[in-house]
Amino acid sequence: DAAMSSDAHQRRQPHVVLIPQPAQGHVTPMLHLAKALHARGFRVNFVNSEYNRRRLLRSRGPGSLDGADGFRFEAVPDGLPPCYDHGDDVTQDIAALCLSTTKHSAAPFRELLVRLNSSTPVSCVIADGVMSFAQRVAEEMGIPALVFWTTSACGFMGYLHFAELVRRGYVPLKDDSDLTNGYLDTVIDWIPGMDGIRLKDMPSFIKTTDPDDVMLNFDGGEAQNARGARGLILNTCDALEQDVVHALRRTFPRLYTVGPLAKAAAGGADLDAIGGNLWKEDASCLRWLDAQKQPGSVVYVNFGSITVVTPAQLAEFAWGLAGCGRPFLWVVRPDLVAGEKAVLPEEFVRETKDRGVLASWCPQERVLSHPSVGLFLTHCGWNSTLESVCAGVPMVCWPFFAEQPTNCRYACARWGIGVEIGGGVAREEVARLVREAMDGERGKAMRASATALKQSAGAATEGGGSSSENMDRLVEFLHAGCD
Ligand code: UDP
Repeated sequence: DAAMSSDAHQRRQPHVVLIPQPAQGHVTPMLHLAKALHARGFRVNFVNSEYNRRRLLRSRGPGSLDGADGFRFEAVPDGLPPCYDHGDDVTQDIAALCLSTTKHSAAPFRELLVRLNSSTPVSCVIADGVMSFAQRVAEEMGIPALVFWTTSACGFMGYLHFAELVRRGYVPLKDDSDLTNGYLDTVIDWIPGMDGIRLKDMPSFIKTTDPDDVMLNFDGGEAQNARGARGLILNTCDALEQDVVHALRRTFPRLYTVGPLAKAAAGGADLDAIGGNLWKEDASCLRWLDAQKQPGSVVYVNFGSITVVTPAQLAEFAWGLAGCGRPFLWVVRPDLVAGEKAVLPEEFVRETKDRGVLASWCPQERVLSHPSVGLFLTHCGWNSTLESVCAGVPMVCWPFFAEQPTNCRYACARWGIGVEIGGGVAREEVARLVREAMDGERGKAMRASATALKQSAGAATEGGGSSSENMDRLVEFLHAGCD
């Protein structure tokens, strides 16, 4: 009888397969979503790339992908050649990854779905918004698919309008002079919910003169694909991006804004061991933060998992940081400088050794919520931005690519929690902005806004909050077979 009732339970228990783009900024929020669904009684299969599976086993230790009851890991190849010269432990080229997974991961994903489906019927696939092949494969097999865009709503809205920007002749750029002649200041006044947005705030892939640019076409196309999904999940909350979310609902009636997912995911202790950091975390920086006496005194610097800088940018930025005179924690990823080892000027290291620490990868959410941290110098990746919002920490923004400029615009102009480092990242500018953000009037205003925003983002995932209600709606929708 026990066997029978567990059998009946399995049949009732919805089984969801989640597949993120195999990059850090996608794996993390997808894992949060997976945990949130598991905590609500779902059986979960989480699909990594084989490359990332190897990296996760290395960074988190053997056994880290054993999963838990009802939570399993699978893997499919990404089709890219190995990066042996870099110890097979670096961020892969994103454009190559987009093309390669689309071409090479579909067939193995189909085989995987067939296998999973034959033991426990799969009720739904949640595919990353930029892995639409998974959505297609699932629907071809009669399994409903939702997409999860791990970007901000404003970033997604930007991608959704790539095609229209091309159609209206804004993009591609006429020639490279458009990058500097003020053309990018053009205000786009017809994107719903994004009044006042300028061309330069749009996801960076529009900054091309090539109509066949891979990312312009790929991300634009994938965004359009979301229209065909059963539902669209976004890691944001209505309070943060009200206007865009409101506008998106007109196109996507089944829109589930369930973020910040890091908050929504708090599940049972059995899932604590499951984590998605591709690099080994250096926890010693937390002890260094503990030792800092003054609350809010430390500048935390991290440019995420993909951004690469030139050696000259690295040095200029380092001197800016030295010049601000504040204690800092700077995470310098081993592959931060393209093609070579990131080396900081010796003199910089010597000069700042009493007030600065360097790490190669840190547990960022814990760092940001540490009381010693007062400012985040960030590239404005969406996860980093959300984590900063959740911790109530103001930001100095140095956006690089993708929808980072869009997030930066929202942080600075809408939420008042950030200032942007303009131009070529001159050392004086970096030092001045950091000082202003730490001590100046502007800093005071930014801190007040950050505190208020933290509260509204936090309230969204609590009982009765918009994200918590959307999560309930999503769960109901999945239970009902996504019809
Ligand atoms: N991250 C981390 N430790 C680090 C650097 C980054 O845990 O030292 C995490 C960070 O918390 C975030 C993710 O990696 O969740 C980076 O995603 P984001 O969207 O900010 O930027 P991307 O890496 O995609 O550019």
